[in-house]
Amino acid sequence: MDLSFSAEYEELRREVQAFLAENWTAEDAAWEPAADERNALSGPIRTDPRATEFRRKASARGYLYRHVPKRYGGGEQSPDPLAGTIIAEEFRKAKAPHEVIGQGPSMLVPTLIEHGTEEQKKKFIEGTILGSIKWCQGYSEPGSGSDLASLRTTAVLRGDDYVVNGQKVWTTDGKVADWMFCLVRTDQQAPKHKGIGFLLVDMKSPGVEVRPLRQITGGTEFCEVFFTDVVVPRANLVGSPTQGWLIANTVLGYERGTQALSAASTFDGDLDRLAADLRRSGRGDDPRVRQQLAQLRIDLSILRLLGLRVLAGLREGRAPGSEASMIKLFKSELEQRLYGFAVDQQGPRGAVWGGGHAVDEGHWHWRMLWSRAGTIYAGTSEVQRNIIAQRVLGLPRD
Ligand SMILES: Cc1cc2nc3c(=O)[nH]c(=O)nc-3n(C[C@H](O)[C@H](O)[C@H](O)COP(=O)(O)OP(=O)(O)OC[C@H]3O[C@@H](n4cnc5c(N)ncnc54)[C@H](O)[C@@H]3O)c2cc1C
Repeated sequence: MDLSFSAEYEELRREVQAFLAENWTAEDAAWEPAADERNALSGPIRTDPRATEFRRKASARGYLYRHVPKRYGGGEQSPDPLAGTIIAEEFRKAKAPHEVIGQGPSMLVPTLIEHGTEEQKKKFIEGTILGSIKWCQGYSEPGSGSDLASLRTTAVLRGDDYVVNGQKVWTTDGKVADWMFCLVRTDQQAPKHKGIGFLLVDMKSPGVEVRPLRQITGGTEFCEVFFTDVVVPRANLVGSPTQGWLIANTVLGYERGTQALSAASTFDGDLDRLAADLRRSGRGDDPRVRQQLAQLRIDLSILRLLGLRVLAGLREGRAPGSEASMIKLFKSELEQRLYGFAVDQQGPRGAVWGGGHAVDEGHWHWRMLWSRAGTIYAGTSEVQRNIIAQRVLGLPRD
């Protein structure tokens, strides 16, 4: 079987390499994230002016944000998973800034492209992909997690504004976000899925209060967000006042479906590192260890293929549907297996995550703890299994 890339793709690789050689020097690449940034939720993301200038150029050349039209600062290329993979590989080798990761670029931007007004697209997309506008997602509420449609935060139209009251919880990055995309109840009388709107709220508005929550990892990325008579212009509503549930599902499809490839690339890098450490320490000679490493490598290849399937669908104009749940389930459970295995291999030292004795400054321990969250956020594993059973396999509801 010939697994080499065709001449067209090898030519693209050479072009990308030449672009990087010209625009991203060894000095630029020498940047190292601070130790605390290394553990940040979405990984270290460079958003200083030099990185922003580089991203702007790379987008203009069509290397970044290929799904975003040029008039909103994107690369505007027809989807091509192989081209995207080659570009990402070369950027990684050159330690050049790739796309800004986060709920804004990965979830809100495709949603605005699909459902937003021209004014919303112009106002938000470019700043979001370049990292100058940070977003958080306001879906969950106390008592409305898996049963999201039961949410109670209200938005009442008064003249040209909505007045928002209620509370959100588990809001990732709530304390650093400039804006929130959130679900609000716009019609109290309608059936629960039908009375929901999708609203963009400026986090600096009077009446917004953010309270961080401390997690098992010690971090405080999650927050409670309280709204008391917050005034939001009607122009910040995406879609019609009761289209929120449909739009929310678009966002969730992107959240669940498109994370496979970026996750696979992070996991791949960590698995390489882990395998090298195990070889060095001699533990890699144990056939049971080798077998588990091989199984993880196989599972990662499956994850990558599932991700490519979603991208291939996007290429044909299909938004990620229920099959995104398969990816979400597989990815989050694989993440737990990978980092649980890594920490197990460290023996007693695996239990330490600070104070100079931790392996790799606590990287593995932190990742293992963090992996517990993967089977909860964006819909728990139980909820994904329900979706797969009903909507993919067509099994009866009861
Ligand atoms: C790391 C992380 C980041 C998050 N970030 C955000 C964010 O940015 N914005 C946001 O809005 N939310 C966020 N969340 C919240 C997340 O979406 C909810 O935690 C999730 O939807 C589950 O809701 P819940 O916590 O209320 O649990 P519950 O819905 O109360 O579920 C409790 C348990 O019951 C099970 N269960 C519930 N219903 C069913 C069912 N029908 N069938 C079988 N089992 C069921 C669940 O699987 C779970 O095990 C985040 C959560 C985490 C962990």
